[in-house]
Amino acid sequence: MSDATIIDGKAFAAKLRERVSAAVVKVKADSGITPGLAVVLVGNDPASNVYVSSKAKQTAECGMESFEHRLDESTDEGTLLTLIDKLNNDNKVNGILVQLPLPSQIDEQKVLSAINPDKDVDGFHTTNVGRLWTGGDALVPCTPFGCSVLLKDFLGSLSGKNAIVVGRSNIVGKPMAALLLAESCTVTIAHSRTDDLPGKCREADILIAAVGRPEMIKGDWIKPGATVIDVGINRIDAPERGLKEDGSVKTRLVGDVEFDSAVKVAGAITPVPGGVGPMTIACLLRNAVVACCRQNGLADPGI
Ligand code: NDP
Repeated sequence: MSDATIIDGKAFAAKLRERVSAAVVKVKADSGITPGLAVVLVGNDPASNVYVSSKAKQTAECGMESFEHRLDESTDEGTLLTLIDKLNNDNKVNGILVQLPLPSQIDEQKVLSAINPDKDVDGFHTTNVGRLWTGGDALVPCTPFGCSVLLKDFLGSLSGKNAIVVGRSNIVGKPMAALLLAESCTVTIAHSRTDDLPGKCREADILIAAVGRPEMIKGDWIKPGATVIDVGINRIDAPERGLKEDGSVKTRLVGDVEFDSAVKVAGAITPVPGGVGPMTIACLLRNAVVACCRQNGLADPGI
């Protein structure tokens, strides 16, 4: 059997960003409105810092207005809630994203609930969760949305397929299951208490790995020919790459799927890096334009 097709998320995300840019041009031409996305970062977490800068850069590159709010690590909940209220009431801001995690003095759920659901481009507000599960006009969490876009592009119709989602988090596993169900898949949601996980995975035509455990899902857990979407981003030591300047061992990124064994069994697979990861920000930009159109009574941009 030949190796799996590699689903190139990086290339797909670049195409999606082009479509977002074209939609922004059209929104501006039709209405004079420039879609705006506000990103709020509290504290100095290095990874969050990189994400926020990258989001702001790509927002501007797509022709949207980017509003960055960087608050001190010691910011109290009231100050953050006041800022969210201001952004909710600012009609130049169509999307609001609060970078997680937040420092421990702030109640994350309270902050997410304070965002106007129509500006909730991360799709974490319970109103959007409810809309997603009931087939309404939800803003859908970006990572699972990106996975479903890749799947539909590769497979066409997902109807009737057996899908397993390994992981049941609110930001990936559960919304992923809702999206697959909406595409008429038969969905299994697996988690740390699932009995015979390898056996259940072997029944799936579509396997989504969102576990956060490096290379946990092995090639012999995969049904021959299945489509595998690896959401995991795990940094592991890579002694074969030598040492960093500070003497510590170099590292590399791996997914939740053991790529080398999986690629020999699957029909198609997303790599890590370069698979699901790049789709997340592209889908965030897409959500911001969709939110802008809905808020201003403009036609859905169809992206
Ligand atoms: P969480 O830690 O919130 O959830 C992990 C899930 O995996 C839980 O439901 C847990 O089960 C389940 N799990 C843990 N261990 C096992 C096991 N041994 N067997 C079966 N299930 C298990 O993680 P997230 O959903 O936030 O993220 C998952 C992965 O996706 C991470 O690697 C993360 O870095 C990555 N990620 C990537 C993004 C991107 O590409 N842009 C965005 C978001 C996440 P239980 O509920 O029982 O504890």
